[in-house]
Amino acid sequence: MRVDIVSIFPEYFAPLDLSLVGKARANGLLRLAVHDLRTWTHDVHRTVDDTPYGGGPGMVMRPEPWGEALDALAPDELSPDGLTLPRLLVPSPAGVPFTQAMAHELAAESHLLFACGRYEGIDQRVLDHAATRMPVTEVSLGDYVLFGGEVAVLVILEAVTRLLPGVLGNAGSLDEESHAHGLLEAPLYTKPASWRGLDVPEVLRSGDHARIARWRRDEALGRTAARRPDMIAALPPETLDQRDRAA
Ligand code: SAM
Repeated sequence: MRVDIVSIFPEYFAPLDLSLVGKARANGLLRLAVHDLRTWTHDVHRTVDDTPYGGGPGMVMRPEPWGEALDALAPDELSPDGLTLPRLLVPSPAGVPFTQAMAHELAAESHLLFACGRYEGIDQRVLDHAATRMPVTEVSLGDYVLFGGEVAVLVILEAVTRLLPGVLGNAGSLDEESHAHGLLEAPLYTKPASWRGLDVPEVLRSGDHARIARWRRDEALGRTAARRPDMIAALPPETLDQRDRAA
């Protein structure tokens, strides 16, 4: 997968050299480039913002540098390596919620382009113009407001990268974790069996795989019901058996 990120703070992305994302880059599974939006400014102050039309507080990112950046990173002509137009992702608290389902959707794309807003956000015409040429998604991390899109991109990229084939040593873990099947994961334990007077539940030490699976399912249902009733309500009824309903 190829990923381009445009930001006025390219330094924010230093952590993408670390851990499994860094390894995915080193292995060529992820080809990532970070671009400074100010590269596409032409005044001495390298200005990227201006006051909002209609008044109001704060500043808005001007369309010209964004337009040039997107022209350069998503050219209409096919690039020599045959890349198609990217999918443009614009972090925004006014976007659609980012979910594990969207992470899977994005992991199937060949080229993602992230546009990191700052100040009050990006002039709407940048998104409207881009949408005439490529798919554009405004995406929100959650119902709160950050200073800029950079942290959101780090989160989205980490969630997407771990879904890329070959990135996780044990791909089976993807199938058992929270949000894989509409539930939160059951509690986890490791050695020692007893620690500070707290014992690992007997069932997990029993070696009885059917009992362990049932215990994990019950715990996952109980946790999800307590913490995320919205997820329980969204479960397709046919995925629940008699024991699930009792739990
Ligand atoms: N004026 C915007 C609004 O009310 O919707 C908020 C702008 S915010 C201060 C600046 C930038 O931070 C946004 O353009 C976006 O890139 C990013 N941002 C803030 N909160 C976010 C969230 N919950 N999810 C994704 N990006 C967010």
